[in-house]
Amino acid sequence: MHIDGQEDPALTAEVDRLLTRRTRDIRLKGEIKRLFRARVWSQTAKIIRAWMIWVALLDVLTLALNMLILPRPIALSMLLPGAIIPPIAATTVFVWRRPRAPWIQGASLIAGMFFMLLSVALVGVSAGGEFYERHLNIMLFVGITAIIIFGIPLAWTVTIAALALGLYLFFQLQNPAIEFGSAVAATLFFASGIFATVAARRIMTILAQKTFLFELRDRRRVAELALANDQLVLLARTDPLTGIANRRWMTETLDQLWGGCRGCPEGVAMLMCDIDHFKKLNDHLGHAEGDRCLVEVARIIQENVRRDRDHVARYGGEEFLVLLPEVSEEEAVSVAERIRQSVEAAAFPNPGSRMSRRVTLSIGIAVQSADEAASPEQLQRQADAALYLAKQSGRNRVLLHEPEASGSKQVRSTR
Ligand code: GH3
Ligand code: MG
Ligand code: MG
Repeated sequence: MHIDGQEDPALTAEVDRLLTRRTRDIRLKGEIKRLFRARVWSQTAKIIRAWMIWVALLDVLTLALNMLILPRPIALSMLLPGAIIPPIAATTVFVWRRPRAPWIQGASLIAGMFFMLLSVALVGVSAGGEFYERHLNIMLFVGITAIIIFGIPLAWTVTIAALALGLYLFFQLQNPAIEFGSAVAATLFFASGIFATVAARRIMTILAQKTFLFELRDRRRVAELALANDQLVLLARTDPLTGIANRRWMTETLDQLWGGCRGCPEGVAMLMCDIDHFKKLNDHLGHAEGDRCLVEVARIIQENVRRDRDHVARYGGEEFLVLLPEVSEEEAVSVAERIRQSVEAAAFPNPGSRMSRRVTLSIGIAVQSADEAASPEQLQRQADAALYLAKQSGRNRVLLHEPEASGSKQVRSTR
């Protein structure tokens, strides 16, 4: 079920305020009232339609039975007033087949109820004798079942109750068999019963409204929890300094990539990037400047990869791991070289660096080959080995790990 308006803070505050009240003081207003009606409409409409159909069926059955067991003139006198019920019930069922403006729903239901109650009373009136009072009682019984099972606004319920009692009093006053006082006394007696029924219906409605308020609140809390959970997951996977993925996220990504294809995604390249002489930058310019440099290098690396497919993570202090799915060796080397050149071109100062006085990057590459299935750990070790050799051979360079036919490693420099 979709409940709109959940993010509305005024609605949220109103739900909380109503739930702090005593149950019997709960009154829905405005938007919440509209939402509640929309929520219960289909159930209420189903009950009303079913009730109408049952009453119409019972009416037809009773009239038919009367023809069999009652004296013919009496049974015939009942036919005409009794025939009012089926078309009235059918009209109400038609109106309540789909949602309409509340006033149309209310008016059709109240009018329908009035004519059905009137019909029951008139059956008794036209049959006369013992049937007169009996049918007035049946009419009240019909009214009471409607009051108790129709989950409609209290004003409608009270109107139906008043109509039932009004008809009862009106016809009892016309009843030749009883005195005025007796008619009034009987009406008062039934009025107390109907009042209790209306009160019971009101409590049922308030309890349904309270359940609805709990539902709105639970829904909101579940949504808030899900949001907080998403934020926590993101926090747990993100490097707070650079805002890019952290090692944990990269590990998850590797697991997914390798797990999804049972061991060997082809053409995956790993780039292990390490800032050269970063310790010296910290020593000469301070840790804060070192942090700024890390942020900038992370940004440059991200700018040089495909946003929709590649993954960049801060893997250690000044180490970044880049994962490039579906690339050839040449493409991987070209991306790495572009990154290296961009960092160099950014010309961040590194006064302590022995080789260039600028921040530079060394990158070791390993590419998953078609004929040798490697685990992410193996690929990472190969990229690390290539990086190690890049450092050994002078830094600020890109080296590709190449397995030799003999199994020993040979590394090619691209500079
Ligand atoms: P090499 O060229 O061999 O990689 O030398 P290096 O100085 O970059 O490497 P080393 O491993 O000796 O030093 C890494 C430094 O990175 C040491 C540490 O203080 C620094 N570092 C690690 N994490 C952070 C961080 O979050 N912020 C800053 N400012 N420095 C960091
Ligand atoms: Mg390092
Ligand atoms: Mg370093």
